[in-house]
Amino acid sequence: MQERQHIVLASRPNGIPTLENFALETTPLPECADGEVLVKMHYFSLDPYMRGRMDDTKSYAKPVGINETMEAEGVGTIVTSRSSHFQEGDMVVGRFGWTTHGVLPAEKIRRINPDDAPISTSLGVLGMPGFTGWFGLNIHGRPQKGETLVVGAASGAVGSMVGQLAKIYGLHVVGVAGGPEKCAFVTEQLGFDACIDHRQMKNADEMHKALSDACPHGIDIYYENVGGVTMEAAMGLMNRGGRVPVCGMISFYNLGGLGLGGMTGIDRLPKIWRSILVNQLSINGFIISNHYDHFPRFHEEVLGYINSKQLIYKEDIAQGIAQSPDAFLGLLQGKNFGKQLVAL
Ligand code: NDP
Repeated sequence: MQERQHIVLASRPNGIPTLENFALETTPLPECADGEVLVKMHYFSLDPYMRGRMDDTKSYAKPVGINETMEAEGVGTIVTSRSSHFQEGDMVVGRFGWTTHGVLPAEKIRRINPDDAPISTSLGVLGMPGFTGWFGLNIHGRPQKGETLVVGAASGAVGSMVGQLAKIYGLHVVGVAGGPEKCAFVTEQLGFDACIDHRQMKNADEMHKALSDACPHGIDIYYENVGGVTMEAAMGLMNRGGRVPVCGMISFYNLGGLGLGGMTGIDRLPKIWRSILVNQLSINGFIISNHYDHFPRFHEEVLGYINSKQLIYKEDIAQGIAQSPDAFLGLLQGKNFGKQLVAL
């Protein structure tokens, strides 16, 4: 009998997840019903949003159940097709989970062209994270030449897209990243004007000073990926009419549900709320899965930049499904350097 390996959620974390929250299981290959395809995966993606799926709290998507396969988007080859829309051998992307093989209905997958770029890019620079950066920047950031943009997690999948696009569009771009190696990559390889190492900042005041030095004309777009001291400092430097696409807040993800558990100290909300009012800021949260009608525009534009070498990407690839929990815990601590994938 043919089998697959997959990672299930063994228990819910209390704060920072640990390896004990995951279990590797070997089970028979799932059945492929009429209208479905069975896919052998080559890569799946590890993303910060998966931390939220581990909690049993109300969110925009339902949590992963105990003993259910962890969610993920993956890319692979169809080995059995019971759909007239797909053939065996087609390369497709879909939400198959942390698994070596998966089954999905035809309407839940999309075909990719392996001649466009290496197939791993369909999960990164040419996939969901790249699209997230493009969408948040263009639709909610509304970038104008000569403006200043700040983005955190700058060397990562979303941040590197946001900053490189903003440079192409003619903005002054400042990244925030963890450690000297990532900061050097952000300025020297990605071409940002400056990058601040958040690990060197003791508090929001130090971050405020570093950001104000790097942004002498204030901030027009703060692309929110991280929350925490970066957000607090950036919100105090916003220009009138500034925009804040709220994409993520990874520094708060281990706080649970509404992000309140464990929060102590000064309530900074009045300061931030005041900045929103007096600077007449536009703050837009978005969940990218609701915006795939824009995907073809993104894909065409960004594939062009990749082919002309105006835009580069970096991947961090863990080898084998057994490594995926460790790689995921590393992602939440900033140990990944580039788009985190698992190769199968
Ligand atoms: P990355 O590839 O950038 O990896 C996550 C990075 O976050 C780490 O490498 C680390 O970078 C940084 N980080 C981790 N912990 C902290 C912390 N406590 N404080 C500051 N930075 C931290 O991830 P993605 O590019 O995939 O995702 C970036 C953001 O975009 C996330 O918030 C994610 O949830 C969000 N997102 C939102 C989507 C949406 O639909 N709204 C869709 C996709 C992503 P460093 O070492 O540089 O600090």
